Amino acid sequence: MTIGSTVFGYPRIGPKRELKRAVEQYWAGKIDEAALHQTARDLRARTWAELSELDSVPSNTFSFYDQVLDTSLLFDAIPQRFRDLGLSELDTYFAAARGRDGAAALELTKWFDTNYHYLVPELGPDTEFRLAGDKPIAEYREALELGITTRPVLLGPVTYLLLAKSTVPGFEPLTLLDRLLEAYVELLGRLRVEGVEWVQIDEPAFAADRTPAELNALRRTYRTVSGLPGRPKLLVTGYYGDLGEALPILASSQVEAIGIDLVSAPDTSVAIPALRDKILVAGLVDGRNVWRTDLHAALAKAAALLGSAREVVVSSSSTLLHVPYDLEAETLEPDVRARLAFARQKVREIVVLGKALRDGADGAWADEAQRQVPGPRRDDHVRARIASLRPEHSLRAPYEERAAAQQARLGLPPLATTTIGSFPQTGDIRKARAAVRNGQITEDEYGQRMRDEIGRVIDLQEDIGLDVLVHGEPERNDMVQYFAEHLEGFASTQFAWVQSYGSRCVRPPIIHGDVSRPKPMTVPWSTYAQSLTSKPVKGMLTGPVTILAWSFVRDDQPPADTANQVALALRDEIRDLEAAGIRVVQVDEPALRELLPLRRKDQPAYLEWSVGAFRLATAGATPGTQIHTHLCYSEFGEVIGAISDLDADVTTIEAARSKMEILEGLEFPRGIGPGVYDIHSPLVPSEDDMAALITEAVRAVPGERLWINPDCGLKTRGYAEVEPALRNLVAAANRVRNDL
Ligand code: GLN
Ligand code: ZN
Repeated sequence: MTIGSTVFGYPRIGPKRELKRAVEQYWAGKIDEAALHQTARDLRARTWAELSELDSVPSNTFSFYDQVLDTSLLFDAIPQRFRDLGLSELDTYFAAARGRDGAAALELTKWFDTNYHYLVPELGPDTEFRLAGDKPIAEYREALELGITTRPVLLGPVTYLLLAKSTVPGFEPLTLLDRLLEAYVELLGRLRVEGVEWVQIDEPAFAADRTPAELNALRRTYRTVSGLPGRPKLLVTGYYGDLGEALPILASSQVEAIGIDLVSAPDTSVAIPALRDKILVAGLVDGRNVWRTDLHAALAKAAALLGSAREVVVSSSSTLLHVPYDLEAETLEPDVRARLAFARQKVREIVVLGKALRDGADGAWADEAQRQVPGPRRDDHVRARIASLRPEHSLRAPYEERAAAQQARLGLPPLATTTIGSFPQTGDIRKARAAVRNGQITEDEYGQRMRDEIGRVIDLQEDIGLDVLVHGEPERNDMVQYFAEHLEGFASTQFAWVQSYGSRCVRPPIIHGDVSRPKPMTVPWSTYAQSLTSKPVKGMLTGPVTILAWSFVRDDQPPADTANQVALALRDEIRDLEAAGIRVVQVDEPALRELLPLRRKDQPAYLEWSVGAFRLATAGATPGTQIHTHLCYSEFGEVIGAISDLDADVTTIEAARSKMEILEGLEFPRGIGPGVYDIHSPLVPSEDDMAALITEAVRAVPGERLWINPDCGLKTRGYAEVEPALRNLVAAANRVRNDL
């Protein structure tokens, strides 16, 4: 690697989600293993061809499901319960990912602060690592046969152990480091024999706060591996943030190159003497967002690094796994399109930047960098509103006053029952949505079908005896997409899929300009539902933080400004819902914790703007309007204060699996609805089971502040489970209520 260009990783699901289709067909028994491997080979070949203009091309970035699970397989750390199934290697791998025949799947958890999810390794004192596979070697050979020399990418040993969970209480996976290092050392030796010149090792765990012991583990690891005689050259990366104290540690080892993320952490200090004889791989092109790079600024930044290191290589800021493949596949409005770059376009930017840094600006540079790019669409009305905001716009009346006004208006019993919003998305609902999209039915016909569905859902809830009803969200394909389609400043894409986990992909909308609400987004559905019943129907909105978290967000202004624009649109929606007679509004914020910055020092500022946006969205409601929020989790940890600061009248959370443990010692000052029905399982919870949970909960929360509800929305379930489960839930609430 001389001065040049590379990327830390690339999407792998396929430009048309070919891998998703192939693995799902394989799971369904429709194609055999050989056919699945052929699809995988084609995708890898295509990726390497797309990357071949780079000076250094990564390999082993492919995965059938997840790179962390690949690492578990490579080092023989697949838990015994999956091996006991007696399946082929590939099926054992998929069993660990998805569960099978009573062997529960590995836990799926968010990957750092991205929307990707990985499978958590389960390690214990008896875990014996050994080099059990050859995936990095096989992919290197495969590329070489196609005439492309690659740089195998490995997940770093320290990060792997830090991502793992222990099978035994009190056991620290990091204590397995020596054993794991032996296996890595063996792998590096085999890669050397294979003729591999460069290996990339990713240690993103060091973009977060780490203890001295963890930093020591990093020091020991890279001292050991970089001191190996006759090893491949090593590039160690730590993207998604600032490497902080880990950077001097890596710089003082004998690794040849260090990769840093200058987009997530533009202020990373490279003034480290030991870096001067290293190659600095500078992540200057955003690997996690979809905007074109300001090439002039990036080139200036790269040039400024030249004095700090022996060489500078231009790269993506992280793996490109988190961005869609190709802008060319999209039809978008020209002013939006001109500002975008997906993975392929980013590779082009990196190639051009690398050449310009080495050889000076040439024709290719001029083509890419001198292009006129229009600015984001501006909405002066929204800007003026934001500028005129005062603190009182984010303050509601004191909770006691609100609670009294709401009680007078709603007259709810203690242990009021409700659901989280969505009811099962049936085949008929999906068909209707597809039909209106393809023009097979008119908008009117579609509206009629949705109203019919809402009517059925209201009747069912009345019959079951729930206290606060919902319209069931049949019109929503996705809780963020729906709002993106109704707001100005958002663009939706057709093929811009990114992997969320395994075969699951999402298509985040793009927030490209100032946000405004041309007309009410949910009012007709909610008011129709309310017209069918005298019980309160909850209006149902997605909160500003979740809308940002599950979108690609413009980066020309702070996210707080964008969140406040979204909040104003929601605030107007709540006002319109109130005017139309809706007395309860739920604003979902399941992603509040997801955007939490990796480093503690950055968290207070984030919590301030995210909580601020939620409050701006909801504080326009009159005291008599009951504001609910829903979070999909219960391990509040460091965000508990922020959740309370949301100042919602009622907060519904997931709690069924943890058996109400969350309530212990939780002094939550307002209404709370710890889920009593685990909707992630197809099992129908019994009345007795739920009554036991509710009895547990009333010990911790007074009845008039305790809500009885499922853990989350019901859209992924079927009516065959949902109906009996909700009947049991209402019966359980009635039983405990009568004993109060
Ligand atoms: N209201 C949404 C639903 O019920 C909430 C979904 C979520 O929490 N992710 O589907
Ligand atoms: Zn949820």
